[in-house]
Amino acid sequence: MGEIIWGNELAKQYRATFKTEVDELRSQKKRIPGLGVILVGDNPASVSYVSNKQKACHEVGIKGEVINYPDTISEDILSKKIIELNNDDNVDGILIQLPLPKHINESRLLGLIDVKKDVDGLHPLNIARLQLKQNCLVPCTPMGVMEILKSIKYDLEGKYVVIVGRSNLVGRPIAQLMLNANATVTICHSKTKDLKAFCQRADVLVAAVGKIALIKADYVKPGAVVIDVGVSRGEDGKLHGDVDFDAVKPIASYITPVPKGVGPMTIAMLMKNTLLAYHMRES
Ligand code: NAP
Repeated sequence: MGEIIWGNELAKQYRATFKTEVDELRSQKKRIPGLGVILVGDNPASVSYVSNKQKACHEVGIKGEVINYPDTISEDILSKKIIELNNDDNVDGILIQLPLPKHINESRLLGLIDVKKDVDGLHPLNIARLQLKQNCLVPCTPMGVMEILKSIKYDLEGKYVVIVGRSNLVGRPIAQLMLNANATVTICHSKTKDLKAFCQRADVLVAAVGKIALIKADYVKPGAVVIDVGVSRGEDGKLHGDVDFDAVKPIASYITPVPKGVGPMTIAMLMKNTLLAYHMRES
């Protein structure tokens, strides 16, 4: 019977550690770390993610500022805002909540963010540095996944990992981190033939797709560790993952739930990256 890894509990511990760190800075009368979040439009999922990020900043003591724009905003105004945040000494981290409206060139804007303030790890230079195993800001969800494995003292060396999903934000950087940890990694996607056959061989199966219950019981090797990154709202109005949780749990050795799994860890890692960016800028 699979043990549930409660990401929300783990994230709480991280936030407490980060709060102690910020309290210490405050007691030493040092500058307080700052995070600027750009939110375009009123997509309910994005609004909810940004609100959770703001709550976490408040709890940890980081100065979180949300800059809200209507979805008709021009790319030019967004570019100017990013440059303003780049030049603001009180801002250590900049995050653009994705996705952006279709008329905005997302990758151009991500490339404008100061590499040292790129707390989502999506600047081309940070992506390259991750590939090269150099110090860099790493995307938050992949970092959260690695911390989840660390919490169960899982050694990836020599293990076979299958990641379903190849986005720049989730699938690809998770693959890179696991490869760097000496796992053998396969990335699957919508054009993969016989997804089930790949999944069935995985010691660690990471699902990052956004399709409710795509990963069924017969996709999972007995004893595998199953990490569910996917989040979709079902017809029942509730949040669901990519994994058929109830059917897979008895087969897996460990499994993350949705909600209360990877999601809270993503936000905790955003706090971690903001503090890291702060220290990089202060040193
Ligand atoms: P994305 O950019 O839409 O990528 C989805 C990936 O899934 C793509 O690579 C796509 O393949 C692949 N895919 C689609 N249908 C498939 C199928 N039937 N079989 C195999 N692969 C399939 O999404 P994302 O940003 O990576 O996010 C993935 C999921 O994670 C979403 O549910 C999102 O809400 C969630 N998410 C959660 C967190 C968190 O903190 N928990 C953070 C970020 C994202 P192609 O490349 O071929 O199109």
